[in-house]
Amino acid sequence: MERTLENSLSCARQLDDADPLRKFRDHFHFPNLNGKEVIYFTGNSLGLFPKKAHSYVDQEFLDWKTLAVEAHLKAKNPWFYYHHFCEQALAKIVGGNKEEVVAMGSLTSNLHLLMVSFYQPKKNRFKIIMEANAFPSDQYAVESQVRYHGYDPDEAIIVIKPREGEHIIRTEDIVQVIDKNSEQLSTIMFGGVNYLTGQLFDMKTIAEAGHNAGAYVGFDLAHAIGNVPLLLHDWNVDFACWCSYKYLNSGPGGVAGVFVHEKHGSDKSLPRFAGWWGNEEETRFQMKKKFSPQFGAAGWQLSNAPVFAMAIHRASLEIFDEAGIKNLRTKSEALTGYLEFVINEYNNRNPSAELKIITPANTFERGCQLSMIAASDGQRIFNLLTASGVMADWREPNVIRMAPVPLYNTFEEVWRLGQILNFSQS
Ligand SMILES: *Cc1c(COP(=O)(O)O)cnc(C)c1O
Repeated sequence: MERTLENSLSCARQLDDADPLRKFRDHFHFPNLNGKEVIYFTGNSLGLFPKKAHSYVDQEFLDWKTLAVEAHLKAKNPWFYYHHFCEQALAKIVGGNKEEVVAMGSLTSNLHLLMVSFYQPKKNRFKIIMEANAFPSDQYAVESQVRYHGYDPDEAIIVIKPREGEHIIRTEDIVQVIDKNSEQLSTIMFGGVNYLTGQLFDMKTIAEAGHNAGAYVGFDLAHAIGNVPLLLHDWNVDFACWCSYKYLNSGPGGVAGVFVHEKHGSDKSLPRFAGWWGNEEETRFQMKKKFSPQFGAAGWQLSNAPVFAMAIHRASLEIFDEAGIKNLRTKSEALTGYLEFVINEYNNRNPSAELKIITPANTFERGCQLSMIAASDGQRIFNLLTASGVMADWREPNVIRMAPVPLYNTFEEVWRLGQILNFSQS
């Protein structure tokens, strides 16, 4: 979509007309405010409701109603195997093979489970590296793991910050900190995309540096999955986890997922917290003593599948499969580029009320989200957007985040946002 951008309705409409993914917008329900459809830029927080999830959930209601316990094996989609119905699509989205992924549990609890296996601090190797401003749940999880093993979080957790006066963490700084701590490093646990700044980290380089230092490397992909293409297998990432209610549109508290690299898939020496659903399927119902894990990520499961949440997940993953993550990325770069253009136009006209974009300008360092800091009056601008039917979000102390999502947002919506901003200053 190479063309000269203009801050005009006709330009926005031309871009929408040329968008091969345009039809996917109709697959979703949009919220209303005062009877008007909102401009929804918060798919990074809670993705929209895919219409076809209704019939997927209804199928499970029907099988429960008519088959009850028999549905475990006799349902149209047998519940015993339900997580398998998500694995093909998930594998494509994260760039792994299907044994490396499993839909299970919830994000923070999965992070704990993975840390049990991949954070095994020893007296001379106990440090863990994270990014500054990691999502609070990740900070709490890591701190509590460190304490659980008897170490002091202030000593064990190394937080990599942006340089003075900068908002973005430079990859060279990350690599340098890893190298410097290589003797004592146990694990690296980074975000894929930082929730606050929208920075997309160079996961391949971080994994390489981490392995050179003798550490395990894992990522929390909450803001990356379904947003940017991933190649976890090829990048040699050890473990990863994510939630499905953000870009994956699988509903509030929806079923989350984990990735465990194939190379650890049959490693029975890794410590892990086990449950019956992680046991080999053939012997699971023999109810015998002695846990025998399945090969791959599935061996980290604890409990039987939350079928209703998974039915929504499955419906949503099929949409991703149909749209294709590469196509989504192509549109996403153009759509976010247009948002950046419109914001910068506004800034040029309103230097005193500048919305400074802190997300990297390079497309390879960001997904669809742009985060901005208002020079003054951020809360007023944000409230005005809300009153005008734009759902963006506000993060303390002063960050406005907007995520135009390629599956369902349009160039025209971005143009309309610009009009609302400009109008607010006149
Ligand atoms: C959204 C998000 C969470 C939320 O965790 P839940 O366990 O799903 O409540 C955790 N970590 C990151 C990085 C997130 O973006």
